[in-house]
Amino acid sequence: MAAAAGLSSERRRRRESSTFRVRKRRRGGTLERILVTGGAGFIGSCVVRRLVAAGRHVATVDLLTYAGHVESLGVALDAPNHTFEQADVRDGRALRRIFSDTGPDTVIHLAAESHVDRSIDRPMDFVTTNVQGTVTLLQAATAYWSGLQAPQREAFRFLHVSTDEVYGSLETAAGVFTDVSPYRPNSPYSASKAASDHFARAWHRTYGLPVLVSHGSNSYGPFQMPEKLVPVTILAALEGRPVPVYGDGRHVRDWLFVEDHARALERIADAGEPGRVYDVGADAGTANLDLVRMVCGWMDELVPDSPFRPHADLVTFVADRPGHDRRYAVDSRHVRRELGWEPLSDLHTGLGRTVRWYLENRWWWQGIRDGGFEDRRRRGLGLGTG
Ligand code: NAD
Repeated sequence: MAAAAGLSSERRRRRESSTFRVRKRRRGGTLERILVTGGAGFIGSCVVRRLVAAGRHVATVDLLTYAGHVESLGVALDAPNHTFEQADVRDGRALRRIFSDTGPDTVIHLAAESHVDRSIDRPMDFVTTNVQGTVTLLQAATAYWSGLQAPQREAFRFLHVSTDEVYGSLETAAGVFTDVSPYRPNSPYSASKAASDHFARAWHRTYGLPVLVSHGSNSYGPFQMPEKLVPVTILAALEGRPVPVYGDGRHVRDWLFVEDHARALERIADAGEPGRVYDVGADAGTANLDLVRMVCGWMDELVPDSPFRPHADLVTFVADRPGHDRRYAVDSRHVRRELGWEPLSDLHTGLGRTVRWYLENRWWWQGIRDGGFEDRRRRGLGLGTG
């Protein structure tokens, strides 16, 4: 992919780790204890798995809604440098206790209601979790941060993880949103994320909390809930069902592999400047129909004896989603130039890894589909330490 070209992985790794060393000096050798909200979700679990594997001390806080599964944490769940708390980000009392128990130097806030289609049917869930939950977390973080000694206060970071959808829709094939573009959210989901961004900014300006905001583009990869476009396509193709595509399929998204999104969040939390907004995209704008055809192509290759080949024949156009944004694209220059981040996975390769993962990990999506994980949870199994 063009974005990843020109810089070898080794050079990129060296650049990232040298920036990290600078940051560690500036912050007094902290960034060791990280509180991750929404860490049992799609992107959050990737962040937690990576940080735990890197030896950081991670406290995962997650309510385990329909979208959260401790099974997604893998070996990180029971690792000695990981604790798990089933808690609601709207519960200020629980959050104050968790801050006091875990003593984080960094918060990465991913807990949210995240599915646009659901936000159309149940908008109030998005208001309470995404807005009220973020404000409650900001309050708990501020109370905790205010009580820290000066070096720890200076080092503390709060990364609010948001989305490029807050900018609304680009209606033409040209142009990108930047970190100073006006907010024009069009769905209840993006409106709730936009509102939470404003509170995050206000907590920085009013109380001085060292807040950073990220606007990531549409992500895909292993452990994504079966309701989202890429897994919907894989599972429909696998089972020979119609592969649904909204409207004319020409809606363009800048698809970002989840590992790359997680790496960007780590870079921003590690080395970003408080008060700043970082837009994160792969510069891989692709129409939904083309994305779905790429997934179907991978299915043809990886399931050669499927009776449903060519899987692209299963594509079925369905009525468009109301308020469906036409195109998203962001300018990720700041995270690339200042923080040395670049996506490592191009769309074709990332989709191949994703399709292969869903084919090899039926236990995970079948556990979600048939409610097996829920049963385990009700019986009190599957929750890790803490
Ligand atoms: P997800 O739906 O897979 O995971 C959300 C997690 O939050 C789940 O584990 C859920 O149990 C937890 N959660 C929900 N309500 C909670 C509450 N009240 N208290 C505590 N935990 C709660 O979402 P995701 O796709 O991993 O997205 C994570 C974050 O990244 C979200 O804030 C989302 O807006 C943002 N984001 C996502 C994308 C994307 O393409 N998936 C792109 C950009 C930004």
